[in-house]
Amino acid sequence: MRRPIIVGNWKMQKTVPEAVALVEALNAVLTDVHEVDIGVAPPFTALAAVAEALRFSEIVLVAQNMHWEPRGAFTGEISAPMLTDVGCRRVIIGHSERRQLLGETDETVNKKLHAALGSTLDPILCIGETLEQREGNATFRVLEQQVRGGLAGVAGEAMRRVVIAYEPVWAIGTGKTATPEQAQEVHAFLRNLVTTLYGKTLAEDLRIQYGGSVNAGNIQTLMAQPDVDGALVGGASLEAASFARIVSFQS
Ligand code: PEP
Repeated sequence: MRRPIIVGNWKMQKTVPEAVALVEALNAVLTDVHEVDIGVAPPFTALAAVAEALRFSEIVLVAQNMHWEPRGAFTGEISAPMLTDVGCRRVIIGHSERRQLLGETDETVNKKLHAALGSTLDPILCIGETLEQREGNATFRVLEQQVRGGLAGVAGEAMRRVVIAYEPVWAIGTGKTATPEQAQEVHAFLRNLVTTLYGKTLAEDLRIQYGGSVNAGNIQTLMAQPDVDGALVGGASLEAASFARIVSFQS
């Protein structure tokens, strides 16, 4: 049995007081949810304050991005040691917004993944096809390339710490969710691919999240799919009541 994992990606949203208020509200409403790994990924500026607010909580602090070098002349960047120092346990790597708007490639994603695995941060590797790629029947080829590129050189033992998030670009922030069947088809494909790369046991244990306009109304049917093990949630994670319904799989 794979333990579900649901993470809220707050993106470039929430000032420090807003972030603390949100996480305090989540702490209050999520006291009875113990069967799901829950994470929140605030902006860098709010990590320290949110870490403090999560001190006695089961909710885990997640970073939205990191650089692959531990330190140096990289203006504006944040490293794995800085993130672990502030209390992060996971890091999102290769989000499509970073790939599309900020020049991330499979190569930089791979470097970041190795750097995370060299620290105590467990990576969430994001992959996903654009609408053009889906309509051009390139979905599986693109996803295979992103998986092989992102995971290049990652050994089986380290792979056990990786979560994959399948986020079709056309479904992110658009209100257009993949149908449960579309999500299942891709997740099964990814699990097969990971079986080829790492063997059946590891692939069976791998958690694959779906991301793209997840909300309280669609989480139940998505989670009912055999290969959907959780969700990466953007917009609907910005409000405590809706995120709480999602992590409880309640509409
Ligand atoms: C995301 O940013 O990872 C995401 C899935 O966003 P949204 O839920 O808003 O589509």
